[in-house]
Amino acid sequence: MKKPRIGIVANLLIVESGMLPGIYRSYVNQDYIESLEKAGCLPVLLPVLTNLEDVKEQIEYLDGIVLSGGYDIDPFLYGEQPIPGQGFTMPEVDRYYMEVIAAADQLGKPVFGICKGLQALNVAFGGTMYQDLGKQCPKALQHTQQAPRYAPTHFVQVEPNSFLATVLPQKAKVNSFHHQAIKDLAKDFRVTAQADDGVIEGIERKQGTFMCGVQWHPEMMAKFDDTTMVALFRQFAQQCMANNND
Ligand code: MN
Repeated sequence: MKKPRIGIVANLLIVESGMLPGIYRSYVNQDYIESLEKAGCLPVLLPVLTNLEDVKEQIEYLDGIVLSGGYDIDPFLYGEQPIPGQGFTMPEVDRYYMEVIAAADQLGKPVFGICKGLQALNVAFGGTMYQDLGKQCPKALQHTQQAPRYAPTHFVQVEPNSFLATVLPQKAKVNSFHHQAIKDLAKDFRVTAQADDGVIEGIERKQGTFMCGVQWHPEMMAKFDDTTMVALFRQFAQQCMANNND
């Protein structure tokens, strides 16, 4: 059987020093690639296009899409202006994310959003964000963890009868590297994982093209052979292949 081809949305890195200060580079963290390989997939990098009309053609021959993590999402996309805790944004990257989500929806390509990827799914379908969790939800747990990236630091409660519940235990341990979180959830989605402080950590689309987002970084755990998180990527791969046979 052919391996599922999974596109990973890349990001732009602004190089600050060296021979070419200010030059932009396309990149994805290697953890995504290795996690998808462990899950039996063929990863394909998707550079941030400037010609957004080409996005549909760019993803047409893929079996699924992983939206990777990155900078904060542009608050303009959900009708707000930055508060002091809002981080760095690159609007051209966000416009590309929005276009990929719209194209994937139209073409029926399953989407797995990780960290910023979850946030992009929420915003693309009309949801809003806490721009800075620590300031806006002072009672929240620590979500920018002070531990290595593979180490889980908080629990999430996983909703039974969800995609996530097919792999994760009802009380799962996850890592946490985010200072933003979903405020208002997009109507098309339901919460399928939540931290003990109420912070939304997993969402799934109710109907239409399969779309699931997680606020943690399963690829950083899968890279170090966390079997549950490897299984999560494998389950997404199966979703992509099942989608092809419909
Ligand atoms: Mn968290």
